Amino acid sequence: MTTTTSAATLRPAWSRDEGAARVRALFATAFTDEPDGVWSAPGRVNLIGEHTDYNGGLCLPIALPHRTFVALRARDDETIRLVSAQEASSVVAVSLSSVAPGALSGWAAYVAGVAWALRQAGFVVRGFDATVDSCVPYGAGLSSSAALESAFAVALDEVFGLGLASDDAGRARLAAACVRAENEIAGAPTGGLDQASSLRCHAGQALLLDCLDGSVEQVPFDLSAAGLALLVVDTKAEHSHATGGYGARRATCEEAATLLGVPLLRSVADEPDGGATALARLDDGTPEGSVRVRRVRHVLSEIGRVREFVGLLRSGAVDEVGPAMDASHASLRDDYEVSCVELDLVVTAARAAGALGARMTGGGFGGSAIALVRAGTESAVAAAVAAAFAESGLGAPEFLLALPSDPAA
Ligand code: ADP
Ligand code: MG
Repeated sequence: MTTTTSAATLRPAWSRDEGAARVRALFATAFTDEPDGVWSAPGRVNLIGEHTDYNGGLCLPIALPHRTFVALRARDDETIRLVSAQEASSVVAVSLSSVAPGALSGWAAYVAGVAWALRQAGFVVRGFDATVDSCVPYGAGLSSSAALESAFAVALDEVFGLGLASDDAGRARLAAACVRAENEIAGAPTGGLDQASSLRCHAGQALLLDCLDGSVEQVPFDLSAAGLALLVVDTKAEHSHATGGYGARRATCEEAATLLGVPLLRSVADEPDGGATALARLDDGTPEGSVRVRRVRHVLSEIGRVREFVGLLRSGAVDEVGPAMDASHASLRDDYEVSCVELDLVVTAARAAGALGARMTGGGFGGSAIALVRAGTESAVAAAVAAAFAESGLGAPEFLLALPSDPAA
């Protein structure tokens, strides 16, 4: 079921009951049995602080109301059996003892990878049967992969009595296991923002995540009290160079850090001049040097914008964050070069329709953008974006509303 607006539809978030009923029904069909319980974890949207996580920088995600649900029953052996409503309906079976880097492909790698990583961290985890269903859009830059991993992380935590989900320090360890699952078993590069968001965000708050040491601070982000709404636009675009582009950006940042003699670019951002001297040192007059300067300039300026955004939230000026969002988009488009036609179009059309600020969110080269709008104008802004896409001959985008929501549980 979707909610129809004048010209665009909003993707609804399932209630906990609806999500639980779906995975329970699937479990009954697939395994003719009762699960031990149902767990769920949210997708995320990053308000600001993009491509900063792997540089030891700052980012500011919120958990979405859209969640991935898991019904799970522990087993006494090494077998993992999985069914997802989003994937071909047959049961995927994996032996936990055979999980290793390079050994698995497909979506089961994200799940078995979490169990593997928890074992690697010294916890006793055995096999399980599980079903999955989700209202987090796939591959939209809203982190359906971390929602999947995190839902399993809290499920395994409970059924195998690991005791990690009960406080933030334990949740940070669960997030670390999810990162290892995604990097080492699913083989997808990820910097840690997604998993921390799904496991450590809270309702009504944005999560200030310091990727240098993994520490977090909750920052009040009460959209409705401020008369605002956050519209998320899934462009449905996925450009083929997304993975290569991400890897190349990371490599350039690592090279720059090596040239500057620091472990991570964050060290440079924390210098008294905000990194200006270091930036000048990177400019060696070559074309590569000039690319490096622009990439590093994005990382340094973006860390500054996270601080500015958080300062505004803390002083109650939620409706003044628009310019920082706009500046973040310009930096990602011009200096980091990870935007694309579709993302730029969302931003331009949303702003023209009255958004206070708009930016691409997530890795880029497709995926989603966010627009901060006055409450009550969501539908009009969505309709304007949809119309701009139609006029440009692009496929219809999809919309959802983000409200800072609960973490995995
Ligand atoms: P994003 O995290 O931005 O949505 P990714 O490419 O990182 O995109 O992750 C998407 C992948 O995660 C899917 O291709 C699939 O392998 C896995 N995945 C996510 N959600 C589910 C689900 N509900 N069921 C099965 N696999 C899922
Ligand atoms: Mg992902």
